[in-house]
Amino acid sequence: MHQVQLKGTKEFYTVGKIVCLGQNYLDHIRELGSKIPDRAVIFCKPPCSMIADGGLIKIPTYSNDCHHELELALLIGKKGKNIKEENALSYLAGYGVALDLTLRDIQSEQKTRGLPWEIAKGFDTSCPISNFTSAEKITDPNNLELQLKVNGEVRQQGNTNQMMRPVEKIIAEVSDFYTLEAGDIILTGTPAGVSKIVSGDKLEGNIEQLGSLQVSVA
Ligand code: MG
Repeated sequence: MHQVQLKGTKEFYTVGKIVCLGQNYLDHIRELGSKIPDRAVIFCKPPCSMIADGGLIKIPTYSNDCHHELELALLIGKKGKNIKEENALSYLAGYGVALDLTLRDIQSEQKTRGLPWEIAKGFDTSCPISNFTSAEKITDPNNLELQLKVNGEVRQQGNTNQMMRPVEKIIAEVSDFYTLEAGDIILTGTPAGVSKIVSGDKLEGNIEQLGSLQVSVA
Protein backbone atom coordinates (compact mmCIF):
# COMPACT_ATOMS: atom_id res chain seq x y z
CA MET A 1 0.00 0.00 0.00
CA HIS A 2 1.30 3.44 -0.89
CA GLN A 3 0.57 6.44 1.25
CA VAL A 4 0.74 10.14 0.52
CA GLN A 5 1.01 12.90 3.09
CA LEU A 6 -0.49 16.34 3.27
CA LYS A 7 2.58 18.54 3.70
CA GLY A 8 2.92 20.27 7.05
CA THR A 9 0.32 17.97 8.68
CA LYS A 10 0.21 14.48 10.16
CA GLU A 11 -2.52 13.48 7.70
CA PHE A 12 -1.82 10.45 5.51
CA TYR A 13 -3.99 8.94 2.79
CA THR A 14 -3.69 5.38 1.50
CA VAL A 15 -3.63 5.63 -2.28
CA GLY A 16 -6.68 4.10 -3.96
CA LYS A 17 -7.28 4.23 -7.67
CA ILE A 18 -5.29 6.59 -9.87
CA VAL A 19 -7.56 7.98 -12.56
CA CYS A 20 -5.93 9.83 -15.44
CA LEU A 21 -7.31 12.25 -17.97
CA GLY A 22 -5.74 12.10 -21.42
CA GLN A 23 -5.68 14.81 -24.09
CA ASN A 24 -6.64 17.77 -21.91
CA TYR A 25 -4.22 20.35 -23.34
CA LEU A 26 -4.66 21.42 -26.96
CA ASP A 27 -0.96 21.90 -27.67
CA HIS A 28 -0.23 18.33 -26.48
CA ILE A 29 -3.05 16.90 -28.67
CA ARG A 30 -1.47 18.74 -31.61
CA GLU A 31 2.06 17.50 -30.92
CA LEU A 32 0.82 13.90 -30.95
CA GLY A 33 -1.26 14.52 -34.08
CA SER A 34 -4.40 13.32 -32.25
CA LYS A 35 -7.99 14.50 -32.82
CA ILE A 36 -9.72 16.66 -30.19
CA PRO A 37 -11.81 14.13 -28.21
CA ASP A 38 -15.56 14.79 -27.98
CA ARG A 39 -15.73 13.24 -24.51
CA ALA A 40 -13.16 12.99 -21.72
CA VAL A 41 -10.40 10.42 -22.32
CA ILE A 42 -10.16 8.51 -19.04
CA PHE A 43 -7.91 5.63 -18.01
CA CYS A 44 -6.48 4.23 -14.75
CA LYS A 45 -3.09 3.33 -13.41
CA PRO A 46 -2.95 0.74 -10.60
CA PRO A 47 -1.86 1.98 -7.14
CA CYS A 48 1.33 -0.14 -7.43
CA SER A 49 2.47 2.10 -10.33
CA MET A 50 3.13 4.90 -7.87
CA ILE A 51 6.56 5.95 -6.62
CA ALA A 52 7.28 8.77 -4.20
CA ASP A 53 9.47 11.85 -4.50
CA GLY A 54 13.10 10.76 -4.79
CA GLY A 55 12.12 7.41 -6.37
CA LEU A 56 13.62 5.45 -9.23
CA ILE A 57 11.89 4.92 -12.59
CA LYS A 58 12.39 1.48 -14.14
CA ILE A 59 11.56 1.50 -17.84
CA PRO A 60 10.22 -1.92 -18.91
CA THR A 61 12.46 -3.83 -21.28
CA TYR A 62 9.62 -4.19 -23.83
CA SER A 63 9.76 -0.45 -24.65
CA ASN A 64 12.32 1.76 -26.30
CA ASP A 65 10.46 5.08 -25.98
CA CYS A 66 9.36 6.13 -22.48
CA HIS A 67 7.97 9.70 -22.34
CA HIS A 68 7.49 12.05 -19.40
CA GLU A 69 4.12 13.79 -18.96
CA LEU A 70 4.03 16.37 -16.17
CA GLU A 71 0.58 16.70 -14.60
CA LEU A 72 -1.30 18.40 -11.78
CA ALA A 73 -2.50 15.69 -9.36
CA LEU A 74 -5.72 15.94 -7.32
CA LEU A 75 -6.10 14.04 -4.04
CA ILE A 76 -9.69 13.12 -3.19
CA GLY A 77 -10.58 13.67 0.48
CA LYS A 78 -14.08 12.20 0.73
CA LYS A 79 -16.45 9.82 -1.04
CA GLY A 80 -18.56 11.14 -3.91
CA LYS A 81 -20.53 10.06 -6.97
CA ASN A 82 -22.13 12.23 -9.69
CA ILE A 83 -20.49 15.26 -8.12
CA LYS A 84 -21.70 18.68 -9.32
CA GLU A 85 -19.11 21.08 -10.68
CA GLU A 86 -20.14 23.77 -8.21
CA ASN A 87 -19.29 21.49 -5.23
CA ALA A 88 -16.37 19.69 -6.84
CA LEU A 89 -13.50 21.47 -5.08
CA SER A 90 -14.94 20.56 -1.66
CA TYR A 91 -14.09 16.89 -2.43
CA LEU A 92 -10.37 17.64 -2.67
CA ALA A 93 -7.90 17.13 0.16
CA GLY A 94 -4.87 18.38 -1.75
CA TYR A 95 -2.90 19.12 -4.90
CA GLY A 96 0.38 17.54 -5.97
CA VAL A 97 2.92 17.15 -8.74
CA ALA A 98 2.81 13.94 -10.79
CA LEU A 99 4.30 12.28 -13.84
CA ASP A 100 2.21 10.09 -16.13
CA LEU A 101 5.05 8.07 -17.67
CA THR A 102 4.03 6.61 -21.02
CA LEU A 103 5.62 4.01 -23.26
CA ARG A 104 4.85 5.89 -26.47
CA ASP A 105 5.94 3.10 -28.82
CA ILE A 106 3.73 0.57 -27.05
CA GLN A 107 0.83 3.04 -26.80
CA SER A 108 0.97 3.74 -30.57
CA GLU A 109 1.07 0.03 -31.29
CA GLN A 110 -1.94 -0.61 -29.03
CA LYS A 111 -3.88 2.30 -30.58
CA THR A 112 -3.21 1.00 -34.09
CA ARG A 113 -4.42 -2.47 -33.09
CA GLY A 114 -7.47 -1.04 -31.28
CA LEU A 115 -6.32 -2.50 -27.94
CA PRO A 116 -6.25 -0.97 -24.41
CA TRP A 117 -3.24 1.13 -23.34
CA GLU A 118 -2.65 -0.34 -19.87
CA ILE A 119 0.71 -1.91 -20.63
CA ALA A 120 1.93 1.48 -21.93
CA LYS A 121 0.63 3.45 -18.95
CA GLY A 122 0.28 1.31 -15.83
CA PHE A 123 3.63 -0.42 -15.40
CA ASP A 124 5.43 -0.37 -12.02
CA THR A 125 7.07 3.06 -11.36
CA SER A 126 4.98 4.74 -14.12
CA CYS A 127 3.42 7.19 -11.69
CA PRO A 128 5.80 9.32 -9.60
CA ILE A 129 3.77 11.55 -7.24
CA SER A 130 4.87 14.19 -4.73
CA ASN A 131 3.33 14.75 -1.34
CA PHE A 132 0.27 16.98 -1.43
CA THR A 133 -0.38 20.60 -0.52
CA SER A 134 -3.63 21.09 1.43
CA ALA A 135 -6.43 22.11 -0.91
CA GLU A 136 -7.42 25.12 1.17
CA LYS A 137 -4.02 26.72 0.50
CA ILE A 138 -4.64 26.87 -3.26
CA THR A 139 -7.13 29.53 -4.31
CA ASP A 140 -7.17 28.81 -8.06
CA PRO A 141 -5.98 25.38 -9.27
CA ASN A 142 -6.86 26.44 -12.82
CA ASN A 143 -4.05 28.99 -12.99
CA LEU A 144 -0.80 27.31 -11.93
CA GLU A 145 2.47 27.30 -13.91
CA LEU A 146 3.95 23.86 -14.60
CA GLN A 147 7.51 23.12 -15.63
CA LEU A 148 9.49 19.93 -16.17
CA LYS A 149 13.26 19.82 -16.45
CA VAL A 150 15.31 16.82 -17.53
CA ASN A 151 18.97 17.04 -16.47
CA GLY A 152 18.41 20.76 -15.82
CA GLU A 153 16.99 21.48 -19.29
CA VAL A 154 13.38 22.71 -19.60
CA ARG A 155 11.29 20.24 -21.62
CA GLN A 156 7.72 21.08 -20.63
CA GLN A 157 6.30 24.46 -19.72
CA GLY A 158 2.62 25.29 -19.40
CA ASN A 159 -0.16 26.58 -17.20
CA THR A 160 -3.24 24.76 -15.91
CA ASN A 161 -5.27 27.61 -17.45
CA GLN A 162 -4.59 25.85 -20.80
CA MET A 163 -6.60 22.78 -19.73
CA MET A 164 -9.67 22.23 -21.90
CA ARG A 165 -11.46 20.80 -18.87
CA PRO A 166 -10.82 22.69 -15.62
CA VAL A 167 -10.40 20.88 -12.31
CA GLU A 168 -14.10 21.18 -11.31
CA LYS A 169 -15.29 19.65 -14.58
CA ILE A 170 -12.73 16.84 -14.39
CA ILE A 171 -13.92 15.82 -10.91
CA ALA A 172 -17.57 15.98 -12.01
CA GLU A 173 -16.99 13.89 -15.15
CA VAL A 174 -14.74 11.30 -13.50
CA SER A 175 -17.27 10.86 -10.67
CA ASP A 176 -19.95 10.03 -13.25
CA PHE A 177 -17.84 6.96 -14.19
CA TYR A 178 -16.33 6.01 -10.84
CA THR A 179 -17.31 6.49 -7.22
CA LEU A 180 -14.48 8.62 -5.85
CA GLU A 181 -13.12 7.76 -2.42
CA ALA A 182 -10.66 9.31 0.02
CA GLY A 183 -7.14 8.52 -1.19
CA ASP A 184 -8.05 8.34 -4.87
CA ILE A 185 -5.85 10.47 -7.12
CA ILE A 186 -6.75 12.13 -10.42
CA LEU A 187 -4.11 13.18 -12.96
CA THR A 188 -5.33 16.05 -15.11
CA GLY A 189 -3.41 15.77 -18.40
CA THR A 190 -0.15 17.16 -19.71
CA PRO A 191 0.90 20.26 -21.66
CA ALA A 192 3.13 20.04 -24.76
CA GLY A 193 6.80 19.11 -24.70
CA VAL A 194 6.64 15.41 -23.92
CA SER A 195 9.85 13.63 -24.85
CA LYS A 196 11.90 10.50 -24.34
CA ILE A 197 13.76 9.75 -21.10
CA VAL A 198 16.66 7.35 -20.82
CA SER A 199 18.73 5.60 -18.17
CA GLY A 200 20.51 8.05 -15.86
CA ASP A 201 18.16 11.02 -16.55
CA LYS A 202 17.18 13.22 -13.64
CA LEU A 203 13.68 14.67 -13.79
CA GLU A 204 12.40 17.65 -11.82
CA GLY A 205 8.75 18.65 -12.07
CA ASN A 206 7.58 21.92 -10.57
CA ILE A 207 4.10 23.32 -10.16
CA GLU A 208 3.59 26.84 -8.86
CA GLN A 209 2.63 26.91 -5.14
CA LEU A 210 2.99 23.10 -4.87
CA GLY A 211 6.75 22.63 -4.98
CA SER A 212 8.73 20.01 -6.79
CA LEU A 213 8.97 16.30 -7.57
CA GLN A 214 12.40 14.80 -8.27
CA VAL A 215 12.96 11.32 -9.65
CA SER A 216 15.60 9.61 -11.73
CA VAL A 217 15.71 6.84 -14.32
CA ALA A 218 17.49 3.59 -13.36
MG1 MG B 1 -1.04 12.00 -19.34
